[in-house]
Amino acid sequence: MQPKTSNHLNAILQNLPSIDEVLRSLTARRIALDAGERQTAKMVRRATEELRQEFRSNSNGDQGKEELLVLTTDRLDRIWRAEQAAGTRRVINATGVVIHTNLGRSPLSELAREAVQNAAGYCSLEYDTGRRQRGRRGQRVEELMAELTGVEDVLIVNNCAAAAFFVLSVFAAGGEVVISRGELVEIGGDFRVPDVLAQSGATLCEVGTTNRTKVSDYEKAIGSETRLILRVHPSNYKIVGFTASPDLPELATLAHKHGLLLYEDIGSGALIDLSRIRLIDEPIVGRSIADGADIVTFSGDKLLGGPQSGIIAGKKEHIDRLRSHPLYRALRVDKLAYAALEGTLNSYSRDEAFSEIPVLRMMSASKSDINDRATRFIGRLAGKTSAGRLDLALIDGVSAVGGGAAPAVHLETVLIGLTHPELSVRRLEESLRKSDPPVICRIVDDRVMIDLRTVAETEEELVLNIIATLN
Ligand SMILES: *Cc1c(COP(=O)(O)O)cnc(C)c1O
Repeated sequence: MQPKTSNHLNAILQNLPSIDEVLRSLTARRIALDAGERQTAKMVRRATEELRQEFRSNSNGDQGKEELLVLTTDRLDRIWRAEQAAGTRRVINATGVVIHTNLGRSPLSELAREAVQNAAGYCSLEYDTGRRQRGRRGQRVEELMAELTGVEDVLIVNNCAAAAFFVLSVFAAGGEVVISRGELVEIGGDFRVPDVLAQSGATLCEVGTTNRTKVSDYEKAIGSETRLILRVHPSNYKIVGFTASPDLPELATLAHKHGLLLYEDIGSGALIDLSRIRLIDEPIVGRSIADGADIVTFSGDKLLGGPQSGIIAGKKEHIDRLRSHPLYRALRVDKLAYAALEGTLNSYSRDEAFSEIPVLRMMSASKSDINDRATRFIGRLAGKTSAGRLDLALIDGVSAVGGGAAPAVHLETVLIGLTHPELSVRRLEESLRKSDPPVICRIVDDRVMIDLRTVAETEEELVLNIIATLN
């Protein structure tokens, strides 16, 4: 590249439009309708500054004033589009990972969405409209959850990590917590059982080995400092082969014999038997309690299929102690989470969880259900003329439960594989990801794969139209 003379550069820089000129352009007027004057002016300054920098560092152009104005408004438009794409926005999950942590974990049910909408304004969060007096926040949803799980009482906090931290802080700080070495797990990067324990002020007392721990290992470790026995469901991995760990009732007997609490963190939070979708290894909240756990914690947005929240279930005396603890105020949830949870639980009460809760509905779809949808989808796509150049194929594959639950379960599915004669798979994937709304897909075996398991039927038309305009 030829270094330019400073005269040449100065001429270009001088011909760059002024901020006011750009602001008067049609592009800027259109953007200002959505972004407002101040934000638009900020983006215009950024656009001109970027171009100025670029001309300084490398330019041999000889654009005139008009061309420079077009360059600037194009840049402005690009900045605005990036700005719009930056926030939290709706996406279509075509990955087949049902509880997708990066995509907001569980999508809310229709009932939960309606409940959030209703609670968004003033609502009866802490008001008893029947009696014209103050009510307890969360009471209804806590009662509903207690009823569904068969526990005495329930308390809702911000997420399961907060629930675990809270329980350990209140019941074990200053003392020892006995846990099997096989359960010192890390769940999703920043939730590590040993770290949470340390933060809570309790001391870890690890027993047994990674693959085998016996009741006698626990018993030997119990001393005067022991406060509770902790069992953690190793949600996101599975040890197979030569393994052993005591049943929950055995642990409960041991804990209670020594006057200790048995606390189980089950994480994934199945409220009902999920064996019909082959999630046989997932602990069920009610069963843990029936088996003798004094306190159980789990997430609201994993297998339960609700909003981010942590549920603490157990005996009334323990839950009461948590509810009146000063730390509770810092960990409690807002009205939107209560509303969403209540909407979600209503589907369980009505025995409609498998049809109304999106994660359960998606996981229960059979391979042949998805095959039918995928076949129809391809047929409809072929009917859209502009999609004629895409190569479409139905391919057997697997979807995943995700969210650190049921790592060993593979849900058989049928994928729609896309390739294009001129676009590389990477470009194809990128175009889908940058569409509006973004369609997030996997790339497998040199094809872009769409798994309809995680695409709602009501979203299919949208995906069809996006694919049809890919050319
Ligand atoms: C997922 C999980 C957590 C963390 O739950 P969040 O709701 O994400 O805070 C804690 N414990 C176990 C066993 C889990 O599976």
